[in-house]
Amino acid sequence: MDDCFTVSDEIKALREKALERCAEAFAAAESVAEKTSQRVLWAFQSEKVQASHLRGSTGYGYDDSGRDTLDRVFAKAMEAEDAIVRPHIISGTHALTVALFGLLRPGHTLLSVTGKPYDTLDEVIGIKAGDGSLGQFGVHFDCVEFAEDGSVDYDGIERKLDESVSVVFIQKSKGYQDRVTLTSEQIGEICRFVKDRRPDVCVMVDNCYGEFTEPHEPTYYGVDLCVGSLIKNPGGGLAKIGGYLVGKKWAVEKCSYRLTMPGVGRESGATLDTLSDFYQGLFLAPHIVLQAQKTAIFAAAMFELMGYVVRPFCDDERADIIQTIVFEEKEPMIAFCEGIQAGAPIDSFVTPVPWDMPGYSDPVIMAAGSFVSGSSIELSADGPVKPPYTAFLQGGLTFETASVGILRAADKVLSLSRS
Ligand SMILES: *Cc1c(COP(=O)(O)O)cnc(C)c1O
Repeated sequence: MDDCFTVSDEIKALREKALERCAEAFAAAESVAEKTSQRVLWAFQSEKVQASHLRGSTGYGYDDSGRDTLDRVFAKAMEAEDAIVRPHIISGTHALTVALFGLLRPGHTLLSVTGKPYDTLDEVIGIKAGDGSLGQFGVHFDCVEFAEDGSVDYDGIERKLDESVSVVFIQKSKGYQDRVTLTSEQIGEICRFVKDRRPDVCVMVDNCYGEFTEPHEPTYYGVDLCVGSLIKNPGGGLAKIGGYLVGKKWAVEKCSYRLTMPGVGRESGATLDTLSDFYQGLFLAPHIVLQAQKTAIFAAAMFELMGYVVRPFCDDERADIIQTIVFEEKEPMIAFCEGIQAGAPIDSFVTPVPWDMPGYSDPVIMAAGSFVSGSSIELSADGPVKPPYTAFLQGGLTFETASVGILRAADKVLSLSRS
């Protein structure tokens, strides 16, 4: 740090103090990463991954043994029966769209039990007008908000779990919302509650940002389907595109007919040259998630020392990679994002500005200098520019470099209050 990046004595002192506070939380995150890394290694070995699996297919992509083996490895890594991992899934939202259209039928109700789903699903569900939405195909949507105290509203779920409900939707991570992130175990409790009353209902989870942050995935606790993006946690920073669906065999299969075509499902879909990155990214993912966790923990400690409200606290239990910092004012939020950008390996010299991003209702500021465009397993910070000016920080491929971004951000925020 001293050689290439000079920081003020004030920041240096804060850093020392913050690192002291982080020791226990770092150790806890390392212990999770040890378990999850070894589970991934075991998945590779038990599915006998070999060099030829790393080469993809072309054209229709029939008999792509690399693709089919990766599906099985991924399923085992995520403690599930089955998985589909594909470069044809363009984002997390697309993966969720495939799942929703795969599972729901006209007249069915989609019941979200963790408040309104992630903003980018508004047009998919039809909460906002969207041509081709689920609503246009006669799928109803209903929603149970969190209770006043932030807990899951079980009474509300009980009331709304009527005959028409065929999919119960749970978002694990807080996303861009002021809510708690659910642990896999808490998701398991919701799942049991639903299945006790309606065993035929499919319980699906938006698992974005949650993968490998805990010893077990929601699939371990009985949910039918988990969905996410490969340019977040499970791609390990190497996947350049892609998404996954993982869970019960029947649920994955149903969705496969929406991903490609009825009658064809998972049997087709060339992988071109994506498989090597997918395999290696999955192999690295638990370790990369650890780097992101250490970055988040360190940021929590630093900004709490600086007097800001942070969630989670440095030594809280973590079930996703997101760290929020509440700035209360616009200027420090923007200064923070500028600092994160200035710590990036790519585009460190550009200045992030708020913009109207498609799919989001308020101007959003995004700091990201990533190898993979939009990848948020790489150090990034973003958030809607509106009160209470909460920045959402996530990612960091290596703690050693991501902490430079955190220190730059702290420096920029501090110099604001000095001027
Ligand atoms: C990122 C995210 C999504 C959407 O993923 P994209 O890849 O941005 O489309 C959905 N839900 C949650 C909770 C997310 O964090």
